[in-house]
Amino acid sequence: MALLSVQDLSIQYNSMAGPVYAVEHASFEMESGETVGIVGESACGKSTLGLGIIRSLSGGSITGGSVIFDGHNINDISDTEFDQKYRWKQISMMFQGAMSSLDPVYTIQEQFTEILQHHKFDGNTNDAISGAIAAVNLEESVLGRYPHELSGGMKQRVIVAMALLLNPRLVIADEPTTALDVLIQARIINMLKDLKSTGMSFLFITHDLALLSEIADKVGIMYGGQLVEFGTSENIYNNPQHPYTKKLLESVPRLHGSQPSYISGTPPNLLTPPTTCRFVDRCSEAMDKCQRDPPDLVTANGMVKCWLYE
Ligand code: SF4
Repeated sequence: MALLSVQDLSIQYNSMAGPVYAVEHASFEMESGETVGIVGESACGKSTLGLGIIRSLSGGSITGGSVIFDGHNINDISDTEFDQKYRWKQISMMFQGAMSSLDPVYTIQEQFTEILQHHKFDGNTNDAISGAIAAVNLEESVLGRYPHELSGGMKQRVIVAMALLLNPRLVIADEPTTALDVLIQARIINMLKDLKSTGMSFLFITHDLALLSEIADKVGIMYGGQLVEFGTSENIYNNPQHPYTKKLLESVPRLHGSQPSYISGTPPNLLTPPTTCRFVDRCSEAMDKCQRDPPDLVTANGMVKCWLYE
């Protein structure tokens, strides 16, 4: 049984201009101990997908589909039940932006303690906090400090430690290394690899394909609110199917060989997304039917949403 099965998930935000179709009909599965990467351009819906799974959408709601965690449909239960049984205990999240995720007026110790109290932790609080801090190679002295007294890398490791505090089975990591220098980035990635070896699962959300190749077992490519390709890392990196995935890979800078290319045009406006293939305006392989009907997700070296494979 898959640890997490997302089936046909759709999420909308309400805006002054009307509904924003942020995620539409996303489906994928991940096993226990796996790292799955979700990658795509800014505003493609990847963070919303993660926030939808952990039910932390602000101004938005799930409008269709299901999220099955360990065999249970966690969409069907009340917020209270989700909070009591799943949030942070089974599924936690490293939120985007370590610099702004920590409360500036509380010490790190107070912020850890608040999480444990909120989730009615009944073990030894000091041991739990010390264990989480040690897991990310931080000195216990950081606990008495305020966020502004820590470097960016230390703050990011505090965010990682917070996500680990209740020993969850799945951690949703939303751009955990953005805005960090490459050395700190490498340290965080190595730390996540060590945690993965303990059996923890990660849903790693990023725009950085090169970084993802270091850590992901499977990769999902999002475009315009849709998951357009999903497969093993080997298939995605060595044998991509969807034209957008191919272009995305061609845009990664390399030390040797061909120059990176860019994708002309802009992503669709998710207030009024096209009813056809959402990549049609930017696709060099578009055919007549791409202008008429939306493609389904079909099996082709993984799953791909493109008329070329139907
Ligand atoms: Fe390109 Fe057509 Fe495939 Fe869309 S469905 S990605 S337009 S080939």
